[in-house]
Amino acid sequence: MQLEIKDLSKTYPNGVRALNGVSLTIGTGMFGLLGPNGAGKSSLMRTIATLQLPDSGTIRFGEIDVQTQPDDLRRVLGYLPQEFGFYPNLSAEVTLDHFATMKGVVDSGQRKALVASLLNQTNLHQARKKHVGTFSGGMKQRLGIAVALAGSPKLLIVDEPTAGLDPTERHRFLNLLAEIGQDIVVILSTHIVEDVRELCNAMAIINRGQVVVAGDPREIVEALRGKLWRKFVAKADLTAVKAAHHVISTTLLAGAPVVHVYAEQNPGEGFAAIEPDLEDVYFHQLELAGLAEAA
Ligand code: ADP
Repeated sequence: MQLEIKDLSKTYPNGVRALNGVSLTIGTGMFGLLGPNGAGKSSLMRTIATLQLPDSGTIRFGEIDVQTQPDDLRRVLGYLPQEFGFYPNLSAEVTLDHFATMKGVVDSGQRKALVASLLNQTNLHQARKKHVGTFSGGMKQRLGIAVALAGSPKLLIVDEPTAGLDPTERHRFLNLLAEIGQDIVVILSTHIVEDVRELCNAMAIINRGQVVVAGDPREIVEALRGKLWRKFVAKADLTAVKAAHHVISTTLLAGAPVVHVYAEQNPGEGFAAIEPDLEDVYFHQLELAGLAEAA
């Protein structure tokens, strides 16, 4: 199954153009949709999930035309939105049982087996009798995934799932997604570069409603090889360095500023070549997009 998004645009009534000609082809596996806050990720996710209509463009999932056959899409869709609520006084087990019923699993024996398998898969078996209101952020996210999986989706959309999780919970959650993502189409929307680097075999970066780069993360990173340079600079020199070079990021290492510079050749004294990583790509692409806009 493949998700085919063509030339999707959406302007909200307040005049904000959230999507501006987005085209993407997304196959089986983990797809990372990376972009800063306000880039249009949620707008795209909600449109794919049939929660809102675009102004123009098309979305197909296999044989399904998402706009004209929303019910068909919903049957194969699992969606974990950014914000979701559970009844705090219900246990995880009862919550899942409830959702499985809503998904049409009416046979009680079948439902019991499904709930048990979902609890195991999301590592919530031990906590199955606990009230959901007492769950940590990570446990809630895993329960959200269990709910999304209750309908055996072929397309799973998760919107910013790792925001607010501590490192252990985040890893557990990403590992869970990686397991699920082997057989179905999973779209992970995130502003965290690490999420994509660790997990996704395909990705796109979006900024201001437009796709700025899409493809295999390894190839996208490789394209920067030989063009990235690093230099430690004194704080007082930072402005001059930025004026003289194409600085894509400034970070601190043990309190000292380090600039990453994009250049076809060694930009000069004190610069050392560095291995590009996905974060460099991200900052470089966002900067290019910003420059294009300013031009
Ligand atoms: P992201 O998920 O990447 O943070 P969003 O899709 O939420 O981006 O938002 C893209 C832009 O559209 C932002 O400028 C946001 O303020 C605006 N926006 C999102 N939803 C609405 C809405 N329902 N009405 C008006 N503007 C919206």
